[in-house]
Parts: sequence; structure tokens; C-alpha cells
Amino acid sequence: MPATPFRFFDVRVLRAERLSPAMVRVTFTGDDLSAFASGGRDQRFKLFLPRPGQDAPVLPDDLGDGWFAAWREMDPAVRAVMRTYTVRDQRRDPDELDVDFALHGGDHAPAGATDGPASSWARTARPGDRVAVLGPVEEDNGGVDFRPPPGTDWTLLTGDETALPAIAGILAQLPADTPAKVWIEVPGAEDAQPLPTKADADITWLVRENPQDNAVLEAVRTADLPTGTPYAWIAGESANVRALRRHLVGDRRFDRKAVKFTGYWRRGATEDDLIAEIE
Ligand SMILES: Cc1cc2nc3c(=O)[nH]c(=O)nc-3n(C[C@H](O)[C@H](O)[C@H](O)COP(=O)(O)OP(=O)(O)OC[C@H]3O[C@@H](n4cnc5c(N)ncnc54)[C@H](O)[C@@H]3O)c2cc1C
Repeated sequence: MPATPFRFFDVRVLRAERLSPAMVRVTFTGDDLSAFASGGRDQRFKLFLPRPGQDAPVLPDDLGDGWFAAWREMDPAVRAVMRTYTVRDQRRDPDELDVDFALHGGDHAPAGATDGPASSWARTARPGDRVAVLGPVEEDNGGVDFRPPPGTDWTLLTGDETALPAIAGILAQLPADTPAKVWIEVPGAEDAQPLPTKADADITWLVRENPQDNAVLEAVRTADLPTGTPYAWIAGESANVRALRRHLVGDRRFDRKAVKFTGYWRRGATEDDLIAEIE
């Protein structure tokens, strides 16, 4: 895997569009966005948001290699909120970046669920709002995880609404006629969206009935999977992802090296809690 050539960019909201009850697409623009080089697929980046009352994210003075230690030492009530997101799309001339934000609070959400700082920011994003992103300057970068090895015969993709932008990006770049089995769990039927692809993709949308269930696992458990050498990319809520990985490696005998699994969020924990755990 290549190293991670990333740098900070100042960007601002160009427009925000409600795609569906649980998803907002925010399109960013910025003066030096021409240097941003998404590798597509599941390209991740860090997003830095202002706190309520601030008109821009507060970042360390030195944004070189020591930025993370410097950000951690800042007052948590003042420093920018840091979250991880996926490049849904990048366009040139003019330079624009689309990011799809799942709204996890609100009317469509289960009772008691509330937005965190990022989904709440996206819900009210307006043209001109300022944020910062730490993103790639080379297309081949360490922020892309979807890397099927040579000899892969078919691909399995699963995720919830937070992984939908990555699955969309992967499907958009899969070579023509590649067999793909895809399961995506969304809060409501209206949250399904068109996923253009040249692959031979069999896409199943699963509408969430009970947030405690692992609908993707239940669907994959009873599915007839293709023969041949698989590569699996699975993302979403951490415990659900781990359970599905166990099923694929333990019951379905997938080679563990051919299962890329990533917890995109954890029930009951903010991203700040998750960062604190690895410190
Ligand atoms: C590599 C990577 C790529 C990601 N890409 C995207 C993306 O493109 N779009 C996207 O929407 N998300 C994406 N995520 C997930 C996103 O970073 C988390 O959902 C994040 O916690 C949202 O921040 P927040 O401030 O809204 O909530 P937080 O403050 O982090 O959490 C607040 C509370 O909400 C809960 N929570 C967080 N996310 C959800 C959720 N989806 N559903 C229900 N409850 C939740 C937490 O458990 C916590 O209790 C990605 C994560 C990773 C690691």
C-alpha cells in the first residue's frame, strides 16, 4: 500500500442538497482544490468542522507532519471537530468535491438517536460555510482501501448508509463485467439511490427495521454466493462488520487476507471516543 501523501485544504460549501431523508450531499469548492487528487473507490479523508459560534475550523498553526499531536493538545472546546468521510465524487473545471453525509438523528431515525457534530453540521450547511479537509495530493494514496488482489474472480461489497458513498465509488470504478454481489442497508426505502456501474453487479437494498439487527449479515448468511476466488469489502457499524467478517472467514472460508473490513462508526461512541482509544 502506498504511503499517504495528504495535505490540508481550505474549502467552502458551494451547495448542499438533500438526496433523501437520511442523506445530504455537500459540494465543496476551494481555491487550491486543483491539487486535491482523489483515488476514487473508497477514498477517505479527514474533515475539520467549526464548532457552534465559530465561522471557520480552528486548526494548529503548524499543519506539517506534527499536526495531529498539535491538534490533540489544543482545547477540545475550541479545536476543530475532526471526522472521517469519503470522497463521493471529484470533478475538474471547475474543481468540486462531493461528500455524502448520513444524517443519523432526525425524524427518520430511531427514537433517541441524535445527530453528532458532523451530521448536524451537514443538515444545516449553507453556501459559503467554511471547513478544512486533510486529503490526498496523489491518486495512488494510502487512503484507498479497496484493492482486490490479482486473481480475484468476484467481489462482495456490503455496508450501511455511511458506506454507501464508498460503495458507489467502488462500483463506478469496477472493470466492466466484473461479478459483484452487493448488500446495502439504508434507514428507509427512499434512501436507495442509483449506482451506475459497468460491473455485473447484483445490488440488494435492505431497509432497516430494527437498528439492533444485523440485516446485512442475515442476508449474506442465506445467500448463494458465486464460485471462484472472492474479494470482500465490508464497512458500516463496527460490531456488525466484525460479525460479518467472522461469517465470511469462519463459515464461508474466505481467505482472511481477501476480506477488507472497516468499522465506519460504533454504536454509542463518537469519533472522538474512538480517537481517544488509540491514543
Ligand atoms: C473511512 C471512513 C469513511 C466514512 N465515510 C463516511 C461518509 O462518506 N458518509 C458518512 O455519512 N459517514 C461516513 N463515515 C462515518 C462517519 O465518520 C461517522 O458516522 C461519524 O461518527 C459521524 O460523525 P458525527 O459527528 O455525526 O457523529 P459522532 O459525534 O461521531 O457520534 C455521535 C453519536 O452518533 C452515533 N453515530 C455515528 N454515526 C452513526 C450512524 N451512521 N448511524 C447511527 N448512529 C451513528 C455514534 O455512535 C454516537 O453515539 C466514514 C467513516 C470512516 C471510518
